[in-house]
Amino acid sequence: MRKMADQNQNQPIYVLPESAIRTKGREAHRNNIAAAKALSETVRTTLGPKGMDKMLVDSMGDIIITNDGVTILDEMQIEHPTAKMLVEVAKTQEKEVGDGTTTAVVLSGELLKSAENLIDKDIHPTVIIKGYRIAGEIAQKVLNNMSEKLKVEDDEILKKIAMTAMNGREAEAYKEKLASLCVKAIRRITDNHKNIDIENVKIEKKVGDSIENSELIEGIIIDKEKVHYGMPNKIKNAKILLLDSALEIKSTEIDSKLSITDPEQLQSFIDKEEQIIKDMVDKIAQTGANVVFCQKGIDDMAQHYLSKNNIYAVRRIKASDMEKLSRATKGKIISNLKDISKGDLGYAGVVEELKVGDEEMTYVRNCKDPKAVTFLIHGGTQHVVDEVERSIKDSLGDIISALKNERVVGGAGATEIEIARNLRKYSEKLSGREQLAVTAFAESMEIIPRTLAENSGLDPIDILTSLKSKHDEGKKWAGVDVFTGKISDSWRLGIIEPLKIKLQAIQSAVEVANMILRIDDIIASGKEDQQQQMPQGGMPYQ
Ligand code: ADP
Ligand code: MG
Repeated sequence: MRKMADQNQNQPIYVLPESAIRTKGREAHRNNIAAAKALSETVRTTLGPKGMDKMLVDSMGDIIITNDGVTILDEMQIEHPTAKMLVEVAKTQEKEVGDGTTTAVVLSGELLKSAENLIDKDIHPTVIIKGYRIAGEIAQKVLNNMSEKLKVEDDEILKKIAMTAMNGREAEAYKEKLASLCVKAIRRITDNHKNIDIENVKIEKKVGDSIENSELIEGIIIDKEKVHYGMPNKIKNAKILLLDSALEIKSTEIDSKLSITDPEQLQSFIDKEEQIIKDMVDKIAQTGANVVFCQKGIDDMAQHYLSKNNIYAVRRIKASDMEKLSRATKGKIISNLKDISKGDLGYAGVVEELKVGDEEMTYVRNCKDPKAVTFLIHGGTQHVVDEVERSIKDSLGDIISALKNERVVGGAGATEIEIARNLRKYSEKLSGREQLAVTAFAESMEIIPRTLAENSGLDPIDILTSLKSKHDEGKKWAGVDVFTGKISDSWRLGIIEPLKIKLQAIQSAVEVANMILRIDDIIASGKEDQQQQMPQGGMPYQ
C-alpha cells in the first residue's frame, strides 16, 4: 500500500495500492488532451472527398481499407481511456445519423486542443466548460436557422445527399447510379418518411463484377440454397409459405421406450411417421404454395415429399430474414400448419437459386410493392465491396436522417464558418475569460474547412480568409470546392447534408470535450497489465 501523507498524524494512511498510478491537475489535462489530439489527428487526414484512406491490419493479418471514421477507430483497438471516449463519440454519431463520424471526432479533438491553449493561459477549465456549453447552444441555433426545409418528395435532393456521402470513397466513380439506388431503396420500404427502418434494406455483396453493376433487388436475397437437389431451380409466380416451425416429427419431450416385438410393428411405426410428414406436405401443397421458407429444420422425409410436389424449400432461415421476407412478399409468418390458408401466402415474381461466387443463394425477386428490398453490391475484390457497403450505409443513413428531420444544410465547410462567424459576433458581448472560451470554440469550428483544404493540397490560410469574407457578405453556403480550389456555393454544387449530422457532431463534441476537461485526477488501479495503459507521463503517486 502507498501511504498518503497526513500532516496531523505521524501514522501514514494507506488508500491506494502500491502499484496505482495517479496523475493530477494540469498534468492530467495535458495527458488527456494529448490522447484526444493524437486520435483526431489520425482520422483527420481522411476527411472530405480528397481525404486519404487507412489500411488497417488486425492480429490475424486481415486487412481493411477504409475512409470511414468509425470503422478506423473501431479497428484500431484503442486502449487509452480518454481516446476511448472519442471512439464513443464516433459510435454515437454512427448510431444516430450513420455518417459524420470523422467530423465529430475531429471537432472533439480541436475543442480540446483550443482548451489546452486556454489552460496554458491560466484560464480555469470550469470557465472553458461554461464557454463551450454556451457556444454549443448558439451553434445549434445557428445551424437550425440557416438550414433549409427539405421537400420530402424531391428525389433529386435526396440523391445529392446520398452522393455527398460517397464523395472521396470507393463508390465515388459510380455515385450517380448508386445514389439513385439508395433513394429508390428508401422510397420502396416506406410510405411514411418519418418512420423508416434501415433494417429493411438488406445489403448483400458479390465479389467479381464491377461496382457499376450493383443492383437493387425488389425482394430479398437469402444466403442459403434449396434443401433438395430434386427441387426446381426456379419458380415463377412464386406463392410463398413462411413457416417458423420445423417440418419434422417432433421428438417426445420425455424419454420414452418403445418395445417392438416383430419387424411388422417396426414397419408400421415407420409408415406412420412417414404418413404424418406426408400429410404436412400435402397440407402445404393444397394451399397452392410452391415455395417454403422455413425458419427451423426440414427433415429428409419432408424434403423428399416437397421435392416430389415441385416445391422449392429453404430451411434454417434467420428470424430477421423471415421478417424481411414477410415485408417483401406480404406473406404471413405461420407457426402452425393447421392454421394455414391461401391468404397467408406471400408472392414473388421469381424465386430462384443462383450461384454467387462459390455460394448458392436464393433470390426472391420481382415482389409487388415490397416493403423490404436488397441492395446487391458488386465489386472487384472483397475490400472494394466492403468499402462500398460502408458508403452505401452512410448514404442510406443520411437520406433517412434528412427525411425524418426534414431539414438539410450545405456542406464543404459552409456551416462551420457560419457558426464561427456568429460566435465571434456573440462573443463581443461577453467579458474577459468567457469571451476567450467562446472565441476558442469559434476557431475550433474552422478545423473542418481548414482540413478539407489541407487534404486537397490547398492553402488553408487563403481558403479560410476567402471563406470568411464570403460569409461576411451574407453568402451562407459558401464552401471549399476541393476540386477547383475555389470558394463556391455548396448548395449549388449539390453538396448537401442532413442537418442532423451537424447538430449531432457538435453536440457530441461539446459533451465529450467538457467531460474530459472536467477530469483533474486520473487514478489507474495497479494491475500490472494496466500500467501500460496509463496515459503517457503518468507519475506513480507518492
Ligand atoms: P465524415 O465521416 O465526417 O462524414 P467525410 O470524409 O465523409 O467525413 O467528409 C465529410 C465532409 O466532406 C463534410 O464536411 C462534407 O461537407 C464535405 N464534402 C463532401 N463532399 C464535398 C465536396 N464535393 N467538396 C467539398 N467538401 C465536401
Ligand atoms: Mg461522410
